[in-house]
Amino acid sequence: MEELLAQIERALRIGLTVVVAYLVALWLASIWWTFRDIRGRTTDIFLQIAATLLVAVFSFPGLLIYVILRPPKTLAQLYEESLEEEAFLQGIQVHNSCPVCKQRVEGDFIFCPWCQTRLKRTCVRCDRPLMLRWKMCPFCAQAVYTPGSGEAQPQVAGGQTSAIPQLRGADPEDTGPGTRPQIAARR
Ligand SMILES: [Zn+2]
Ligand SMILES: [Zn+2]
Repeated sequence: MEELLAQIERALRIGLTVVVAYLVALWLASIWWTFRDIRGRTTDIFLQIAATLLVAVFSFPGLLIYVILRPPKTLAQLYEESLEEEAFLQGIQVHNSCPVCKQRVEGDFIFCPWCQTRLKRTCVRCDRPLMLRWKMCPFCAQAVYTPGSGEAQPQVAGGQTSAIPQLRGADPEDTGPGTRPQIAARR
């Protein structure tokens, strides 16, 4: 009878040791995982230490808190997204492709020949192609008027743009240099 009790005790001790060893291994692995995960999500060294300590001290509840509070996106994901955004905005300039249909277009195309998207506008003074987002012609300093809905009828839009500088200054030659002091005064 006593021998049986001793055997049970021994078995329990072995079982307990295995369970404790398993939990310790899991705890160490969770600390290592947290350390690697937070390093991929922030470059802030204090945040990295805090997150690792949180899991090291509070173990699995700490890991749960970390997973809830950690930055939602990894640095690689953020970088990828910023690249995609940049590529979309600069699509015409960098890749020389239409941002809508992705077909290849030349740098001085005003419209996409494939899907008829307006890619650029022309300067009303020097007739050079301008990016749609530009506020001023970089070649002749002509201020650019942004038409609200000039996409459908480019001819009408061109007429509107040429009308605006005439409203601003009586002499067309004065429009370019005249706008610069106004911008400087606003700052
Ligand atoms: Zn297109
Ligand atoms: Zn110009």
